[in-house]
Amino acid sequence: MKYKIGTRGSRLALAQAEYVRGKLAAAFSEDEFELHMIKTKGDRILDRPLHEIGDKGLFVKEIETKLLDGEIDIGVHSMKDMPANLPEGLILTRAWKRADCRDVLILREKKSLYDLPEGAIIGTGSKRRQCQLKRLRKDITTVNIRGNIDTRIKKMEEEKLDGIILAAAGLQRLGIKTHSMQLLSLEEMIPAPAQGILALEIRKNDEKLAHMLDLFADQDAMRAVDAERGFLKAIGGDCHIPTGAVFQKTPDASYQLRVMYGNAAGDRQAYALVNGNCPEDLAIRAAAAVRSQMAGMVYLTGSGPGDPKLISVRGISLIREADCIIYDRLIPEQLLTEAKPGCQLIYVGKENHHHTMKQDQINRLLVQKSMEFEKTVRLKGGDPFVFGRGGEEGMFLKAHGVPFEIIPGISSCIAGPALAGIPVTHRGTALGFHVVTAHDSHDRLADIDFSALAAGKETCIFLMGLGMIKEIADRLMEAGMSGNTQIAVISRAATPWQKTCQSDLTHIAEEVKKADLVSPAVIVAGAVVSLREQLMSFPQLPLLQKRYLIPKVTGGCSKLGQLLRKQGAVVDEIQTGSITTINWHISASKIQEADWIIFTSKHGVMSFFENMSRCHYDLRTLARCKIAVIGEKTADCLKRYGLYADLIPETFHSGALALALKNVLTGREKVLYFRAKEAGEQLKQILETTCRLEEIPVYENSPLPLLLPAEKDLAEYDGILFTCASSVRRIMNARKDKGLFPATIYSIGPKTTACLHTYGERNVLEAAEATYSGLVTLCISGNGK
Ligand code: SAH
Repeated sequence: MKYKIGTRGSRLALAQAEYVRGKLAAAFSEDEFELHMIKTKGDRILDRPLHEIGDKGLFVKEIETKLLDGEIDIGVHSMKDMPANLPEGLILTRAWKRADCRDVLILREKKSLYDLPEGAIIGTGSKRRQCQLKRLRKDITTVNIRGNIDTRIKKMEEEKLDGIILAAAGLQRLGIKTHSMQLLSLEEMIPAPAQGILALEIRKNDEKLAHMLDLFADQDAMRAVDAERGFLKAIGGDCHIPTGAVFQKTPDASYQLRVMYGNAAGDRQAYALVNGNCPEDLAIRAAAAVRSQMAGMVYLTGSGPGDPKLISVRGISLIREADCIIYDRLIPEQLLTEAKPGCQLIYVGKENHHHTMKQDQINRLLVQKSMEFEKTVRLKGGDPFVFGRGGEEGMFLKAHGVPFEIIPGISSCIAGPALAGIPVTHRGTALGFHVVTAHDSHDRLADIDFSALAAGKETCIFLMGLGMIKEIADRLMEAGMSGNTQIAVISRAATPWQKTCQSDLTHIAEEVKKADLVSPAVIVAGAVVSLREQLMSFPQLPLLQKRYLIPKVTGGCSKLGQLLRKQGAVVDEIQTGSITTINWHISASKIQEADWIIFTSKHGVMSFFENMSRCHYDLRTLARCKIAVIGEKTADCLKRYGLYADLIPETFHSGALALALKNVLTGREKVLYFRAKEAGEQLKQILETTCRLEEIPVYENSPLPLLLPAEKDLAEYDGILFTCASSVRRIMNARKDKGLFPATIYSIGPKTTACLHTYGERNVLEAAEATYSGLVTLCISGNGK
C-alpha cells in the first residue's frame, strides 16, 4: 500500500516529515511512504507577525483540505500550530516521543542573555517569548522577525540584532549548531503548548493507518499533549494571546504543569505552577489559577421584575460602569440605554424553550468575557437566584477561577403579586409562601407535591405556569384545596402592560382565556388573594388601568407624568432630547436698557439665569424692564428667582403672546427675546415691526438616541402625549415608514398639533388649554378641541 504524507515545504517541515516517513518505512517495509509538499497561508505571507495574519491553523488548513479530499493520507504538523478543534472527519493519532521542548536563544556575539548590554535587541515575533523575555530582562527590546530558521539567523546578522529566539527542537532536527546558543530553562521561558511534539493527522476512518502510527506512541508525550493543549482549550487561548504551557514529571513520580498567559495588549501576564497526577485535571487547575490572577469581575445582577426603576442602586451603577453586558429576555430593555458608549451588549435570551444560547455556552461566554473585560454584568430578570440559573453560572465561574459577585434583584414572584395588591404573607392569613416552577426541563408540568401545598396554609406561587393554569388549578383541587380558593394571575407585572385576572380555582382557567393574558405571568393562590380588594380599593380614579407614553426632553420624572399617575394612570416616559444652555455674549447694559424681556419656556428662564450668574450680573440689572412669559409654567419658574411676570397671554402659545405684547407696545421699545436655538419664526414675525426686537438663543434642545418600544407595544398604550414639536419630530422620524401612529395622539397645543399634521397625523386630540392639566383633563374627558 502507498501512503502519501503531506507536509509544508520548509526545511524544518520536510525534516519532520522525513523523520516520520523514515520511522514508518522501517517498520512497515511492504508499504510505501511518499512526501507531498503543500504551501499554506502561513508560508505565503512572510512580512507580518503571525498573530496579525489570522488564527491558529494558519499552517495546517491547506493540508487538512487535502487530507479530507483524499489527496494525502497523513498530515505532519507541529503540534503547537494545531487549533484546539479539528475539522469533522479528521483526528490526531497518539503523540510520538517529544523532542527538546525548550526555547533557545541564539546570540550574535555574547554568551548569555545576562551578558547582553543594556537595551539589547532580540528578534522574535512571538508574543509569548516577548512577554517572558521582558520578565527576565526589563531593559531588552524585541523586534518582530519571521521566516524559516535560516532566514532568521541571516536576519540577525544583517540587522545586527543581539540575538533571536527559536525552538530548540527545530534546530536539533535540522542539526544546526551555530554561534553561541543558550538553552532557556523551563522556568526562564515557558514554551508554547506542545512545543517539540509532532502532530500526525489522518482521516477518522483510517483505522489501519491509526494503528500503524500508534506503534510509536509515547505515554509521556501523550500526557503532555493532554495537559498542555488541555490548558490552551480551558483558557480559550488563541494565537493573539501569549500562552505557554509545559508538562513535566517531578522527582516523586507525579507531574507538574507550568503555564503562562497574557492579555492581548501584552501588558499583563499570569504565571502558575500546579502539581498532580492527572493531566486533564492539571490543565483545568492551571487555567483556574491563571484566571484568578487575570480575570475581571463578573456581576450576576438581578434587573428586577420589569420596571427599569425597580433595579437596585448597585445594579444600575454597575450597568453604567460595565464593559460588557450579557443579558436575558425578561430584563427591562431601557436599562441597556444606561450602558456606557462602547460597552459590548450580548443577548443570550431564552424564549420559552427556544434558547438563543445553551446554558453551557453562556457559562463559557462568561468565563471568556471575564478574561477580556474588567467588568462584565450578567443581567437577569428578577433575582438571579430565583429560577435564573444564577447558581449554575456562579459555580461554573468559581470552578474556573473567575471572581464574581451577586447583586440580588426584586423577584417577580413577590413583586408581581405585590403590584397587584396581594401580599404574599399576611398576619393571620398566610404564614409563609411557596414559590415553585410549573415547568420541568422537558416542558411538562413539574413534579410538584400538590398535596403538601393543599394541606398547608401558605400562599402558593407558581412561575412559568401560564400555559398550565388549568392543570395547576385542577391538581390543587384534586389534592384537597377548595374550589373557592382565590387565585390570581398577574401578567407582565411591573410594566405598563400589567394585567391581573382574579377568580377561584374552579373558574380561573376560563377567566385567563377570556382575558387573553400573555406571558410572563405569575400565578398566586391562597387566602391572601382576597386582600387585593382592600389593598387595591383606591377611590375610583378616572384614569385607572390607562397607560400613557410621554416623550420628554428632560431627565427625571415629568410633571405631566406625576399628574397622570395621580389620576390612576400608568405612565411610561421616554427621553427624546436634552436641554443645554448656550453661553451668551451680551453686556449687562444691554439688559439694563431693555424695556421688555420675553421667555417662552422655563428652559429659557433657567438658561437666562445660568448666564446671568456666569457673567456675575446682578438681579438688579433687571430693575426697570418688564417681563412677558408664554404661560403659567414659565411664570412659576420665574417666581423661583423672585420675579413676577408682567404679562401672560390668555392662551399659552407664542402667537398669543406676541399679540398680547403687541397691544401694549408703542413701537419704540427695546425687547429681548431669550429663546431656544431652534425656536420658530411666529413671534418674531408679529413683533418685528412693532418694536426693536432682538433674539438671543440661550438654550438648545439636542436629540438623544431613541429606543422606541416595538410597534405592537406602542399599540397597547391608551395614548401618547406630546408636549412639544421637537419630540414629535424625533418620535415620528424614529418610526419612519411605519404608517400612522398606532395609539391615540394627544397634543398640548397648536404648534405641536401643526407639527403632527406634517407627519400625516390628522387624528390628534388637542388640549383646550395648553398646559399639563389641560392635557390631563383631555385624557379624562377623551374629547379634544
Ligand atoms: N429570576 C426571575 C424568574 C425567572 S423565571 C425572577 O426572580 O423574577 C421566568 C418566570 O418569571 C416567568 O415565566 C414568569 O413566571 C416570571 N416573571 C418574570 N418576569 C415577570 C413579570 N414581569 N411579570 C410576571 N411574571 C414574570
